Amino acid sequence: MRDREGRACGLVTRPTLAASDADSGGRADAPVGLHDCPGVTQVARTPCHGICKYAELTNVSWSSPSPLRSRTKLRRADSRRHHRSMLLQHLFGHGPASRADLARSTGLTRVTVSELVADLLAEGLVEELGAPQESRVGKPPTLVGLVADAKQVVAVDLSVDDQLAGAVLTLTGQVVARSARPLEGRRGDDAVAAVRDLAADLVGRSTRPVLGVGVATPGIVGRDGVVLDAPNLGWHGAALADVLQDALDLAVYVANDADTAVMGEYTFGGGAEGGLMLLRLSTGVGAGLVLGGNVLHGHRGAAGEIGHVVVDPDGDECACGRRGCLETYVAVPRLRRRMAEGDAGTALADAGHRLGAALAPVVGTLNLGEVVLSGPADLVAPLAEVAATVVRDRVMPVSAEGFVVRPTALGDDGVLVGATGLVLAGELGGLVTGRHAEQAAPGGSASTSKTR
Ligand SMILES: [Zn+2]
Repeated sequence: MRDREGRACGLVTRPTLAASDADSGGRADAPVGLHDCPGVTQVARTPCHGICKYAELTNVSWSSPSPLRSRTKLRRADSRRHHRSMLLQHLFGHGPASRADLARSTGLTRVTVSELVADLLAEGLVEELGAPQESRVGKPPTLVGLVADAKQVVAVDLSVDDQLAGAVLTLTGQVVARSARPLEGRRGDDAVAAVRDLAADLVGRSTRPVLGVGVATPGIVGRDGVVLDAPNLGWHGAALADVLQDALDLAVYVANDADTAVMGEYTFGGGAEGGLMLLRLSTGVGAGLVLGGNVLHGHRGAAGEIGHVVVDPDGDECACGRRGCLETYVAVPRLRRRMAEGDAGTALADAGHRLGAALAPVVGTLNLGEVVLSGPADLVAPLAEVAATVVRDRVMPVSAEGFVVRPTALGDDGVLVGATGLVLAGELGGLVTGRHAEQAAPGGSASTSKTR
């Protein structure tokens, strides 16, 4: 990923080494708040104190805090960007606050906060909202809040079968405009061109300056926004981010659709802190996992492939070539066929039971707080109910306590909303930490469906 100036871009705060403080060369292109893309010289790095839940999605990684950290000193411009990110993050996660509250919660001085707020006001990213209602004695403080529609984000969802879906969204995930078009079997470079055209169309529909473009794609995505492998789109090493960035002159972020969806749910959908798994039921079954605030990728980047766990060795043949995978029971076309061929209620209950049986070891092992199902509402609700019961019966009481299986709160827009979060995190220095449910209502009437 590259930002507008062509720098490696992303999320992680990165203190420069004390030894380089006096060194004016080679550091100016490494502002704090930007993560390292491959090829960038390794420097002491530190986790960003929870600033960037999206770090994993943008393929950021870091080592544990270096002992050198105590000797680090931020360059002035870098620290300013970092402090600005802290303010934006706080306002996004907690809503409006006074300058004094911002100073207290971020640890910055009042003077610094006032200067930064003045800059943000001038840019139109924040606004003054007057005094809080329950103002104390004395001069009431003026609240400052994010301007949700200061800028907009273009999000593209490639997870829908043979369709390109996209939207323009506000900074808080509300859909402003939508566009969708059939893919009509296009693959390879033709599919890339179709995505580029859709993104350009959406940028044209925006009513505010566009902060960036987020793309959620099936398949494995490399660190630089290259889609390494997405068979359905015929992409094997497709430089999607570069192509879009060249065409649109905007920052572009590309990530796997299941990862994007689970982060959307985690950030905007009220996901619990205690670990979250999101299963997307469509033509196949994909899942994303968030644990400890990070998306799990696994040994070979295939975390979440629960759809191809065999639940019945003598079952139907699966697309993967084996028999009786979970997918052969709960993938939407398969389940609908079973419901049509026999008793619908029995078929649903059987699918829910098998889903719960497959989930239980995962829930028991990771002590997940919740599993969220995304898919057709008529299927998801009964599946969730049965699966939750089976899981609770099969794990220790301590794991069952408070565990829930629920439909997604974001409807069909989870992927688009998650892609918006990608852009926010990358461009505003990792805004997406807190959850502001009232700000983050999903878009209204969904025009897309999640049938792969
Ligand atoms: Zn399979």
